Order: sequence, then C-alpha cells, then structure tokens
Amino acid sequence: LTLAERASLVGPLDYKVLKTIYELNSNYEYVPYSVIINKLGLLERELKEVLLKLYNLKLVSKEKVLKETGYRITFAGLDTLAIKKLYANKVLNKLGIIIGEGKESNVYFGYDFSDETIIVKFHRVGRTSYKNIRKIRGIKYKEDWIKLTIENAEREFSALSCLTNNYANVPKPLGQAYNAVAMEYIQGNELYRTNLNNPEEVLEEIISNVRIAYQYCGKLVHGDLSEYNILIREDGKPYIIDWPQWKKDDEDLLFRDLTNILYYFNKKYEIYKDIDQVINYIKGE
Ligand code: ADP
Ligand code: MN
Repeated sequence: LTLAERASLVGPLDYKVLKTIYELNSNYEYVPYSVIINKLGLLERELKEVLLKLYNLKLVSKEKVLKETGYRITFAGLDTLAIKKLYANKVLNKLGIIIGEGKESNVYFGYDFSDETIIVKFHRVGRTSYKNIRKIRGIKYKEDWIKLTIENAEREFSALSCLTNNYANVPKPLGQAYNAVAMEYIQGNELYRTNLNNPEEVLEEIISNVRIAYQYCGKLVHGDLSEYNILIREDGKPYIIDWPQWKKDDEDLLFRDLTNILYYFNKKYEIYKDIDQVINYIKGE
C-alpha cells in the first residue's frame, strides 16, 4: 500500500488511537495496552480491533512489556498523522507519488487546494542505525528519535520561513505537521546532474543566497551545502534545499559549506574563487 492509501484507510477512531499512542510514546517506549485502554475508555473488543488494524497497516509496532503488549508509533504512523493534519489545515488536498528516498527523508509530490503541485517531505531521523545517531547527536534513548524527527521538520520549516521572508531562493514553506514539511515544488534538476551554460552567474547567486541566510537569518549556516542540495530550476535559477541541519554562528561550518561548493565549481567548470574573500563578503566584512 502507498502512504496515501494507508492514510485513507485510517478512520477517525483509528486516528484517535494512533494519536494517543504517539502522545504516550513520550512517556513509554512501548505504551502498555492497559494504559491505552484507560486513557481512551473504549471497549476491549473495539480497541483490539483498531490496534490490529494499525499494526497490519504498519503504523504501530508492538513488543511484549511485562505481561502485556506495548505499542509504539512507526515512521509510517507519524507520516499518517502528518498527512491528516496537513489535510485538516488545508495545506494538502491530495498526496501523490514518492519522488525521492533520501538518507533522512522521503519526498512526495502533493497537490494543494488549487490543484498546484507541491512537495511534501517526511523526515526520518535515525533510519540508518541507532549507533550512528547516538554518535552524531549524543542521544541517549531510542524514544528521542520521534522527537528528533519532528524537531528536524520544525527546524527545516523555520529556516525556510526566514529565508523566504528575506527573498532567498529556497522553496516557499507551505505548512508543517509532525515530521512533515510541505513546500513549493521547484521544477528542475539537482546541480550535480546539470550542465550549466552560465556557471559563473549561478555560483554568484548561490553565494548571495548563503549571504542572505547569514546576514538576515541570524548567521544561519546551511551545514550540508553541496551540488546535491541545490536545485537548478528550469529558468536557470539555483535553489538551496534540505535545511534541517542548519546551525547559527558557526564559522567552521560556513567554511566547510563554501569549500564544498567552490571545489565543485572549480573541478567541473574551472572557476576559481578565493575562499577568504567569499567568506568576508558573506559576513559583510
Ligand atoms: P534528503 O537529502 O535529506 O533526503 P532533500 O531535501 O535533499 O532531502 O530532498 C531529497 C530530494 O527530493 C532532492 O534531491 C530533490 O530531488 C527532491 N526535492 C526536495 N525538495 C524539493 C522541492 N522543493 N522541489 C523539487 N524537488 C525537491
Ligand atoms: Mn539532500
């Protein structure tokens, strides 16, 4: 089943149970059955049926806790809550097909209420392995993953908001719910698979967008700037995407971002720019 199909199978009562499990997951890694039933006041038979449905749709996982079964929301479960909320908020009218499965996200086409194509990005932190995440962010508990995933969506949304307000070339953010960010669809290709006929201009424009972030969004630094996170729109304009890992006021990170980009343009287009000069320009010194 596709994500859209699964979401359409989730009725109001299923949604309520799923949301309750999600909320209780901040206290329980696996929420015991008895806790769920106490919280919701449903009939045994009713609740068991819903839980089985959620489990079969892979929206929750389960594990034995002491003498009962415990439940935990899955990434697909979070995606479902997010879709329903984006529908309710009138951001999204219909979810379309998946266009990309990245290392920390699934990206889908969607359609808004004017039938315009939009993008819905579902964050998924820690998909690779527990150990990696623990190392990267210093996290102690598995429970924190849900929180971290949602935090990433919130972080991406807030960066895109500031950047858009300051006229940077980024996808306009349209809404955020749980682990999802809805944004403008940029029709084009990633920089790494585009042959530019005006590389100098494009590089200048990328640098001036990095400058806008730094100057107008509180020394905002992208943190993962590369030829993979820049889309070249059909009219040739570069758009910087994929913002959840931003940091503020981090000069080493700014240096690294620019090194990546300058290296790419040097290697592919033989353009040379002095990095110190570029950094001074960005910092406005
Ligand atoms: P990640 O790399 O963390 O999975 P990205 O934000 O880089 O997430 O998105 C993955 C891919 O999805 C991009 O390389 C791009 O092909 C596509 N994509 C993401 N956002 C947009 C957008 N606003 N418009 C068009 N395509 C997008
Ligand atoms: Mn990316």
